[in-house]
Amino acid sequence: MLDSFAPPDALDPDLDRVISSIRAELRNEYLEDHSFPWIVGFSGGKDSTLVAHLVFEMLLSLAPADRRRPVHIVSNDTLVESPLVVAHIATVQAEMEAAARAWRLPISVVTTRPDPDATFWVNLIGRGYPSPNRSFRWCTDRMKIQPTSRYIRQQAAASGEVILLLGVRRDESATRAGSVARYDNGTRLNDHNDLKGCKVFRPIVELTTDDVWEFLGTVSPPWGGTHRALIQLYRDAGGGECPVVTSQDDAPSCGTTSSRFGCWTCTVVEKDRSLTGFVEAGFAEFAPLIGFRDWLASIRNDPNRRMARRRDGRFLVTKEGVFVPGPFTFETRREILERVLELQTCTGQTVISDDEVARVRRIWAEDAAQAAAWEAEAGPGS
Ligand code: SF4
Repeated sequence: MLDSFAPPDALDPDLDRVISSIRAELRNEYLEDHSFPWIVGFSGGKDSTLVAHLVFEMLLSLAPADRRRPVHIVSNDTLVESPLVVAHIATVQAEMEAAARAWRLPISVVTTRPDPDATFWVNLIGRGYPSPNRSFRWCTDRMKIQPTSRYIRQQAAASGEVILLLGVRRDESATRAGSVARYDNGTRLNDHNDLKGCKVFRPIVELTTDDVWEFLGTVSPPWGGTHRALIQLYRDAGGGECPVVTSQDDAPSCGTTSSRFGCWTCTVVEKDRSLTGFVEAGFAEFAPLIGFRDWLASIRNDPNRRMARRRDGRFLVTKEGVFVPGPFTFETRREILERVLELQTCTGQTVISDDEVARVRRIWAEDAAQAAAWEAEAGPGS
């Protein structure tokens, strides 16, 4: 039970100084003389956990009368996340909500999701989009960028402006350092590249990975418990994370080998890393998901499984004269659905929702009618 706020445990003095200055920055910014809400992007990974932790602590350190600005802690669920990551996020969200209620903090915990008509399964099985790869990565925008951006836009429209706190750090990777540099103009807040009315605040941008782990390993979260489950999750997954994504610039690791916390269905990576790590760590129940993902990757470029026409009715040939096939055939879409439903039965997990299955069937009927119309237009013998 949270009846008093314990001060943080001991940290290395140098890191303590750095963290103290971040705490001061957060406090300073929060107490600015306006009421624009804060949106904390929370992916469940180490960096965004640290930002949420520091924001929580900062709010607790203020007198109740000074906690005037709403803070939204926003996670995005692509609906095909690694099951263990989903479970971890749900646990932490519940702890945060309970603590925020107990402490009367102006925090709301929010999950955004893709538009029901733009989920992975509706596009893959319904519309027959070939599984994403490097040159046709149709998923990041629909499943990650749009849901979070929609929420940010709504809040910005309601309040005039929002401040988006991201756990990006310069030392994460060379690509990330490049995208961070685009926001470097010497001020604390920068305009978001794509979202009007959204300022970006990166409070932990200068911390190193070691700093983040040292802090999380030493200081217990203000919402109760410890960060041990998070640390264990990284050990099991064996690596990187998929951060909150609000633009293509934020998504360099989405669908790369450095991302182990991405979608379990990801065929952009050569080999699934996150689920393999979890299965090797003893979660054998997820092995069938890896088998399915590998099968999905293997059928992508099989010409017998692809329609000749694209969904807009065209036949596409590149400048070099290479024919580019269209979506998966109806037979393959049906086979994918059957396999997904089998996965559900054998894992006991919800893999696809009833609503998605209904949408898939509706799209099949529309596509079949369209295909028949094209055939009739082309005439006999075409
Ligand atoms: S993790 Fe893979 S499947 Fe998921 S959005 Fe990123 S690229 Fe697409």
